[in-house]
Amino acid sequence: MIEKDIIEKAKRKIPKWFNSPNQIGSQIVINYMELLNGKSSISLSDLENKCKNIETFNTNFTQLSGKGQKNHAKIFVRNGSIVTLWEPIANFLKSEYEKYKSTNFKPVIIANISYNPTGWRSLYLNPKASHSYATEFPGHESLNFNFDKKGVDTSNEVYGFVQWTADPKFFNKGGTIIFYSRNTDTRKGQIVGIYCNTEILNHHKYIDWKGFENNEIGFNLKAQKDLSMLFPIPLDANNYKESKKKRLVGQIGYSYYRNEIAEVIIKDQLYELSKSGVQKNEFDKLKNIFSFISGKSLDENIFDYDLKQQDELVELLSSDKSQIITDLKNLDKDETETVTINQKVYKRDNKTLAQIKILRDFECQICSKKIKKEKGGFYIEAAHIKPKNKKGKETPDNILILCPNHHKEFDYGSRTIINHTKDFIEFIMNGVLYKLNLRIE
Ligand SMILES: [Zn+2]
Repeated sequence: MIEKDIIEKAKRKIPKWFNSPNQIGSQIVINYMELLNGKSSISLSDLENKCKNIETFNTNFTQLSGKGQKNHAKIFVRNGSIVTLWEPIANFLKSEYEKYKSTNFKPVIIANISYNPTGWRSLYLNPKASHSYATEFPGHESLNFNFDKKGVDTSNEVYGFVQWTADPKFFNKGGTIIFYSRNTDTRKGQIVGIYCNTEILNHHKYIDWKGFENNEIGFNLKAQKDLSMLFPIPLDANNYKESKKKRLVGQIGYSYYRNEIAEVIIKDQLYELSKSGVQKNEFDKLKNIFSFISGKSLDENIFDYDLKQQDELVELLSSDKSQIITDLKNLDKDETETVTINQKVYKRDNKTLAQIKILRDFECQICSKKIKKEKGGFYIEAAHIKPKNKKGKETPDNILILCPNHHKEFDYGSRTIINHTKDFIEFIMNGVLYKLNLRIE
């Protein structure tokens, strides 16, 4: 290879390494850059020491400091016991490293813990667990979500445990661990909780604890308490598998994932919590966790909880129109904010909107369009005449059922209301006069 090609190859490889820091080449380069930290060179023994958990360090380092190699690009120059960056790519590598540091990449591990049917509120000996140690004594991870373990947890740290045969090699301090557990009763994999800003402890922290094997308990994880939690609603692990055949979690107890999967899982849990209508503290805590992991604040509009609730309610509610008319006419007599259907809590406003949609046959009141959904039912929107932020209410005289186009035109177009009573509304929208029915009949 001529030098120009070698430089080009390196410049192609370097950004890829910083995008997947779990790769061995990436680990060596990142370790080197961490050691370099402003110096012009470092000693080979320092690098070896920092890479001592990488079994194939020697082969990989040789490739990274040679030319015409198979897998890697030339990055280093070795001069006796001194390692420097190869001059033609040094500045490029440094600037890519700065980019990598500023994006704050934190790899995610999904780790398998034995199932605890008490909801992790107490120790549990689980004869059905696939983890052999947990069939004789409580699994140490049964305390992962007890956040105030006496003599262990501090005001801002929680200690936990995952059974694995070897510590994960490619886990940076500060990373995220998501806990997977197989529900031995339903035989389904579930995502049950999360630790953030986690450190894997090289030496387990042991403390005396009656009931466990040898009456002691060991922890191999430490995480930031206010960024760690048990999910109130376990998620179906199958939703995060790349393929049906592949396991979500590898046989050694964990698998590596990109950060994005944590964002997806957190959003799903937030959505579940929002639908349940309770657990505000957990919801807010999880929103903070989302910001910590993604570096961005959460736009709650993406969930559109209300629309999803209305869709569910359309399925659950009676489509008997005389019943709906009675309910809507009596709306002002009942001021409770929620309704419970099939043990699930819904916003009353969403029940009302779902009923108005049924009453209006899911048809746009301007163009009569009905949008059929592949999975059954119809898609239609509820527009507020007096907007919500101006205290417009979810009552039949303030709601128009509109297709998405007319809804947006109604909200963003020029609009003059000529007449608005309990029975109808007359308005000019973008130069066209409309008179729409608001009666409950
Ligand atoms: Zn329309």
